[in-house]
Amino acid sequence: MLEEHLFLGSSGPVGHMKIRTDGALCNCGDHGCWVTEVSLPALARKVEKEYIDIAGIRNGDEALLKVLDEIAEMLGHGIANLVNLFNLDSIILGGAMLPLLPYMLDKTRATVE
Ligand SMILES: [Zn+2]
Repeated sequence: MLEEHLFLGSSGPVGHMKIRTDGALCNCGDHGCWVTEVSLPALARKVEKEYIDIAGIRNGDEALLKVLDEIAEMLGHGIANLVNLFNLDSIILGGAMLPLLPYMLDKTRATVE
């Protein structure tokens, strides 16, 4: 049972599971780690902005939404890996990307399923 253990999402050890073979360089020395591909800095890097303005997402910024959709899919792949590996019943999402989750959940959920 894993009930006494919390996986610290993309900021913990699971954050270094490889989610893309052609991903960005991670501070661990590998490329395409979950933590480098599914995060606010990743979103900003992919849309070539210094920060993410959530109003752009709310207003339907297509470039931003497209990248967010890709990140939502990678979030789903990572969650699916964890669910399959540890037979998890539930996942709790949080962190800096929390305000963006409403725009990601459908894609993430579809990827996990
Ligand atoms: Zn890494």
